[in-house]
Amino acid sequence: MLSTMQDGHLSISTLLRHGSKVHATSTITTWTGSGTRRETFAQLGAHAAKLANALRSLGVTGDQRVGTFMWNNAEHMAAYCAIPAMGAVLHTLNIRLFPEQLTFVANHAEDQVIIVDGTLVPLLAPHLAEMKTVRHVIVANGDAMALEAPAGIEVHSYDELLAGQPDTFDWPEVDERSAAAMCYTSGTTGDPKGVAYSHRSIWLHSMQVCMTDSMRLAESDKALAIVPMFHAMSWGLPYAALMIGASLVMPDRFLQPGPIAEILAAEKPTFAAAVPTIWQGLLQHLDANPQDISHLREVVVGGSAAPPSMMHAFEERYGVPILHAWGMTETSPLGSVARPPADATGERRWQYRYTQGRFPASVSARLIGDSGKELPWDSESVGELEVQGPWIAASYYGGSDIDPEKFHEGWLRTGDVGKISSDGFLTLTDRAKDVIKSGGEWISSVDLENTVMSHPAVAEAAVIGVPDEKWDERPLVAVVVRHGQQITASELREYLSDKVAKWQLPEHWTFIDEVPKTSVGKFDKKRLRALNLEGKLD
Ligand code: ADP
Repeated sequence: MLSTMQDGHLSISTLLRHGSKVHATSTITTWTGSGTRRETFAQLGAHAAKLANALRSLGVTGDQRVGTFMWNNAEHMAAYCAIPAMGAVLHTLNIRLFPEQLTFVANHAEDQVIIVDGTLVPLLAPHLAEMKTVRHVIVANGDAMALEAPAGIEVHSYDELLAGQPDTFDWPEVDERSAAAMCYTSGTTGDPKGVAYSHRSIWLHSMQVCMTDSMRLAESDKALAIVPMFHAMSWGLPYAALMIGASLVMPDRFLQPGPIAEILAAEKPTFAAAVPTIWQGLLQHLDANPQDISHLREVVVGGSAAPPSMMHAFEERYGVPILHAWGMTETSPLGSVARPPADATGERRWQYRYTQGRFPASVSARLIGDSGKELPWDSESVGELEVQGPWIAASYYGGSDIDPEKFHEGWLRTGDVGKISSDGFLTLTDRAKDVIKSGGEWISSVDLENTVMSHPAVAEAAVIGVPDEKWDERPLVAVVVRHGQQITASELREYLSDKVAKWQLPEHWTFIDEVPKTSVGKFDKKRLRALNLEGKLD
């Protein structure tokens, strides 16, 4: 029997209409380095309409791709709204990709237009000649005249292009299953792969971001979106904010700990989201320059494992709870959120919070063991995590769902290895490619890193496997010592001795100035391995 219910499409245009009307006074604040510029959601509605008219005037029709090469700011937010709402597809280009990857993704997605921030023009300009489908470049927040584009590409000033445009647009009805936005995984191996989110997947994901037991984003929030809009859609904050009228604070290009601390002081956001390296940097900054940040009701940390020592530091020293979450570009990205069950108190509560989190109803999960068999959720069995659900990728753009490396019987293979408790909390022990296999047993690089980083003299620690004749592989710890502190490898090994199993105790230690980071700020173990680090203790 068919239902008797209406079948309205879940589209970005509906979100935009709703946000700009019902939450007309909510705001997007962009940090300028010395102050702010502010736009209300009502103004965002008009801004997005002008941008859509401008893009139409340049010939953007149908589901053509429009790339953005931008920081988190009001113009990027307008692009997030206008491009999908007019039926085109937003392609967020990662400004930190290697040049050959950048041209690869622009060509692969067949971007017709790229909107670029003025300060990023020097990064983009040298590669435009190789971007075969790009016809127009629009320079926002900067001088369009400064860009000399190759033949066949017209350059426009964002402000001039939008100036004469109507501030309304007849947003078309778009099929909710069609692509709204795309994002390429940063591709630590091979070419980057494109994930095309649908209007429907974005809508459902936004509802999840706002759910009480998830990120809990609410109208009362002022959310500082540090995680870039080119990294897994800024973890869903922009669209979720439109949905419920949360105000947004955008740091633009000011992502160093000092400016972030200034933004916190000036805007007093209630909520923020970023990868652990940003929070580690901020913590060091705050320890040297104390500041009240208790206006933050909670901050979300994901993208790589949140070290428990950092969670304690923020909560106990600054009164700010860290909410640990797991996800991937392929999962929109929200996959799980570590909000403990109500009856968990004291140490038990912390144990839940350290995990990567609990799966929501829309994310089905299973663990697959080495033999290919599904493993039980018993907090012990360790296998590869596979997930399924309405905001999980079923294939890559231009690829096929029978890519056995990434898809398995309709499930996404995450490449993450871990265990799950009977009540659905995920604990990741590693990425499959980072697991250290020592004498037939697995050593979790993440556990070792967290334990080393719990030492007060350690700023960062990354663990990789190094070849070993007897054991196949042994862990090597690369340590960054906290500014002004001193510590030796033997002292750290001694510190670990009552915290990890004896056979896991690393004998390889090295000290480095900084852990190499990927384009989205995660430990880059591929580059770390390439350094051929050594340092065996006697
Ligand atoms: P990339 O593969 O380039 O890092 P993503 O940003 O999509 O791109 O990263 C997804 C991966 O990040 C996950 O598969 C997982 O390995 C890691 N990750 C994300 N969140 C966490 C977390 N909370 N703890 C540990 N690892 C995480």
